[in-house]
Amino acid sequence: MIERSWRKPVRVGPLTVGGDAPISVQSMTKTDTRDIDATVAQIHRLEDAGCDLVRVAVPDEKAARALGEIKRQINIPLIADIHYHGEFALIAIEQGVDKIRLNPGNLRKPEMVSRIAALCRERDIPIRVGANAGSVAEDVLARYPQGHEGLALALVDNALEQIALLEREGMDNIIIALKAFDIDTALYAYRAMADRVAYPFHVGITEAGLPPAGIVRSVAGLTMILSAGLGDTLRVSLTAEPEEEVRVGIETLRSLRLRTGGLTIVACPSCGRVEVDLHALAKEVEEKLRPLDKELAAAGKELRVSVMGCVVNALGEARDADVGLGGGKNKGIIFRHGERVNTVPEGELVDGLIAQVRAELDGAVAGDASK
Ligand code: SF4
Repeated sequence: MIERSWRKPVRVGPLTVGGDAPISVQSMTKTDTRDIDATVAQIHRLEDAGCDLVRVAVPDEKAARALGEIKRQINIPLIADIHYHGEFALIAIEQGVDKIRLNPGNLRKPEMVSRIAALCRERDIPIRVGANAGSVAEDVLARYPQGHEGLALALVDNALEQIALLEREGMDNIIIALKAFDIDTALYAYRAMADRVAYPFHVGITEAGLPPAGIVRSVAGLTMILSAGLGDTLRVSLTAEPEEEVRVGIETLRSLRLRTGGLTIVACPSCGRVEVDLHALAKEVEEKLRPLDKELAAAGKELRVSVMGCVVNALGEARDADVGLGGGKNKGIIFRHGERVNTVPEGELVDGLIAQVRAELDGAVAGDASK
């Protein structure tokens, strides 16, 4: 059981980040924000994947002015990601975004901080501040010895300076991110920050790269950070479609039992005993059942489905699965709660499994013609 460090709850639209709220999963669009249709379409795909909140880049005024229309067409909280230009933050807030990502110390016009903070306070909009290992100022780095710990402490100092700029303006609706590619640095930084302030943490391993290496690095880092009880919202940062980031984030939380509900697919790796195309079978099951995941999660219901390449191990696995299948020569068996309910030709295995999943979801007892 992972015990989470208590962090101040911060509201992001209808969602709470911190406190005892579930850890949320976020992503960032990779479209041109000025292209409203493309951005909305990508956000809808993210919603389908289970994304809890989404961030969009705001590189210019046209992008800032597109935010209201984007917000109207989506169903999850919208975050505006802003660098240097405080005026874009003011427009974004007026457009109705739910959160701003901005470092006040980086604004070209420092006098903008008080206007942005005042508007955020008025609208109850939080600001996410942070520090990134790649852009810590030289004078801050020089305060500490070289190495992971020194860099982590420099990250903390850098973020604390951003926080102080906001607190000076009466703003305490803050979320913190401390980004590093190196896992030790990120973990050490969050640990050090946890003792200093109570604001909630946005966690992740930055610029983790292409899958599968990027997924491995992200999950390894998130596992260490989340297992230390740190993290209130997360982003998996991949050079891939953003839906992939969301799926990895959700599965990481589920694997750590930090999120319950939804669909778990157990599949064997296959071996020399297999007599069906297990990989294709598992992929088809995953694709066809994926839309059910959100439905199950929303209902707080868990469903475990197993896809096994042979009957010997399928029988054992079936005891723990709600629904499962075991492959055989040109045919396979379908299980439900450890009981064999059907034997079907290989070509009908997936549909047979899905029929049992549906029956499970509907609470119906399937009329099985066991052979
Ligand atoms: Fe091999 Fe059967 Fe185990 Fe799959 S379940 S790995 S096919 S022995």
